[in-house]
Amino acid sequence: MKVIVVGGGWAGCAASLAACKQGAEVLLIERTDMLLGTGLVGGIMRNNGRFTAAEEMIAMGGGDLFRLTDQNSLHRNIDFPGHRHASLYNVATMEPILKNFLLLSGVAVKPSTRITDVEMQADRIKAVIGKCNKEEVHFEADAFIDTTGTAGPPANCNKYGNGCVMCVLRCHSFGGRVGLAAKAGVKEIVGQKGPQTGAMSGSCKLLKESLSADIVRELNRDGVVVVPLPESGRLAGKLAIKACQQYAIAEFEKNIVLLNTGHAKLMSPFFPLEALRKIPGFEHARYEDPYAGGLGNSVRYLGMAPRDDGLQVEGVANLFCAGEKAGLLVGHTEAICTGTLAGYNAVRSIRREPLLVISDSLAVGDAVSQVRLRMKTSEGLGLKYTFSGSVFFDRMLERKLYSTDVQQIEKRVEAAGLAGVFAQ
Ligand SMILES: Cc1cc2nc3c(=O)[nH]c(=O)nc-3n(C[C@H](O)[C@H](O)[C@H](O)COP(=O)(O)OP(=O)(O)OC[C@H]3O[C@@H](n4cnc5c(N)ncnc54)[C@H](O)[C@@H]3O)c2cc1C
Repeated sequence: MKVIVVGGGWAGCAASLAACKQGAEVLLIERTDMLLGTGLVGGIMRNNGRFTAAEEMIAMGGGDLFRLTDQNSLHRNIDFPGHRHASLYNVATMEPILKNFLLLSGVAVKPSTRITDVEMQADRIKAVIGKCNKEEVHFEADAFIDTTGTAGPPANCNKYGNGCVMCVLRCHSFGGRVGLAAKAGVKEIVGQKGPQTGAMSGSCKLLKESLSADIVRELNRDGVVVVPLPESGRLAGKLAIKACQQYAIAEFEKNIVLLNTGHAKLMSPFFPLEALRKIPGFEHARYEDPYAGGLGNSVRYLGMAPRDDGLQVEGVANLFCAGEKAGLLVGHTEAICTGTLAGYNAVRSIRREPLLVISDSLAVGDAVSQVRLRMKTSEGLGLKYTFSGSVFFDRMLERKLYSTDVQQIEKRVEAAGLAGVFAQ
């Protein structure tokens, strides 16, 4: 049984691990020279309903990557505006830790390899084709997983955002994103909110060395610093364009919110450098990611695959998808949950076993099906879904799915007949 996963963000890493645990030979192919994709600049875990989702996954036997981020967290159980009990993993050290873990688990990793096409046989992908540095590559497998994300390439950031701002995806150096589903002839879905196509990423990173000693001390001690902005220094309307709808609340417009993820994570899609440097403590501020964070941010949600609740892509018999590719799901936790399901189901499909659909009595199962259903409406296509806030967290609260009681979550997973399912 051979499974090829294309795209080494959190979704691809989780899918690779899950398929490997089911006994498949797994090759994880990544365009750049590092795994983690946008997870290289994120870091927030376990905030609000993400705690519940992470614990559901642990109870289902799919918790390895949550344990890894927990172990590499700089802060645990912290609160910041609108968000409770968050953990912040260290974005500067996470990637090599994760890569070693995958290698030790038996996943073969092929970095600096960009897939640019597929070879089809009837309704199945036979092989993926691309380049590793300058050399042509061609890999065959029984099942494939598209975890190429939805950000970039620069032409999209130029067209739908404020231009390429040189984010961590480094499209100019490694070539832009290419999705497998589109190459297999699937009509992808584009996020659309009124006139805005896609959505802009919602945070930047500042070099701590460029901030005042007081701010850095507080940030390192508490994990969070909130600096009120004078009315004249606020960026009106910036919340509406954010991919991370869970942070589109007034507190993030009225204040600068910094989180300690190794660098100082600035919870704003962008902030003009000159205006930022007028704020006490930020006089020498400098962006670490994106390099041009004073101008804008990456644009995402530009190419999602239609799929079922087992995460099989519609119209291609042996193609699965996860993470942002699987819909308007924002977050590392969301990518790990869907990645694990896609990896597990890819192997079940090779074995000709029925695909696992996670019950909607669990937050993870409900998210997978709700996002698919809501994306069928134009209103739903304008929203983003995450366990950590906004419309899906509201639904979790309504359906009493949100819980921080680990034993209660374990009982719920057991009642759904899914205890340890991903570890079997
Ligand atoms: C600036 C920023 C901050 C964020 N902060 C947080 C946060 O704090 N907490 C949180 O939960 N979420 C955060 N998010 C959102 C979160 O990072 C994503 O929703 C999630 O990690 C997406 O994972 P993914 O694996 O689906 O996609 P991606 O992370 O986009 O990974 C896709 C991968 O596929 C690769 N790829 C693309 N095309 C090809 C190809 N043809 N061949 C080979 N490889 C290819 C890319 O190089 C990339 O590594 C943040 C996002 C951004 C941009």
